[in-house]
Amino acid sequence: MNSPYLVPVAQLLRDVPSSVEVNFSAPFDEEHEFEPLPAADSDVMPDADATVAVRVQSFRGGIRVRGTVAAPWRGVCRRCSAPIVGLLEVPVDERYVENLPPEDEEAYPVEGDFINLATMVHDAIFLELPIAPLCREDCQGLCPMCGIDRNEATCACQPASDPRWATLDALRSEDDSSQ
Ligand SMILES: [Zn+2]
Ligand SMILES: [Zn+2]
Repeated sequence: MNSPYLVPVAQLLRDVPSSVEVNFSAPFDEEHEFEPLPAADSDVMPDADATVAVRVQSFRGGIRVRGTVAAPWRGVCRRCSAPIVGLLEVPVDERYVENLPPEDEEAYPVEGDFINLATMVHDAIFLELPIAPLCREDCQGLCPMCGIDRNEATCACQPASDPRWATLDALRSEDDSSQ
C-alpha cells in the first residue's frame, strides 16, 4: 500500500470541499500489468516513470482529479520506420465516486479511504498514444522501389505515372493530413 498512485482521501471527503495537490513520478506500470507491445506499435516505454501533477478536490460523495499526466513513449515512423521517442502529456479531469453505480462508466471508484490514480493514468495515456506517428511532419519516407531513405538520400527511381495510382495518392495524402 505504499504506491504514490494511492491517494488517501478520507480527510478530504469529511471536509467538503477541500483539496490537495498531488505531484509525483513513479513507474507507469508499477504492477507490471502490461505486456510490452510489438516493437512496431506505439507503446509506453517499459519501466518508464509517469509524471502526475493533479489537484485532488472533494465534493459531496466523491473526488475530482484535475491536472496533467505525462509518460514517455516510443514508436516507429510509419513512413520511414525510424524509431521515435517522445513525451506524451495529457490533461485529465476525472471523477472518483463513493459507492460507484455500475452503470456509471464515466467515473472511477473511491476504494475505502483511497483513490487509485493508476488506472486513470493508464487510460489517459493509452488513449492518446499516437497510432501512426511520424518522425517529423515532413518525413519523406522510403522509396517504394529501391527502399532508400528519402530523408537522407535521393535515388533515380521514377515515380509510377500510372493514373490509377493518382487516386491512391490522393487518399494517402488525405490520410496523412488527418493525423
Ligand atoms: Zn520518418
Ligand atoms: Zn528509389
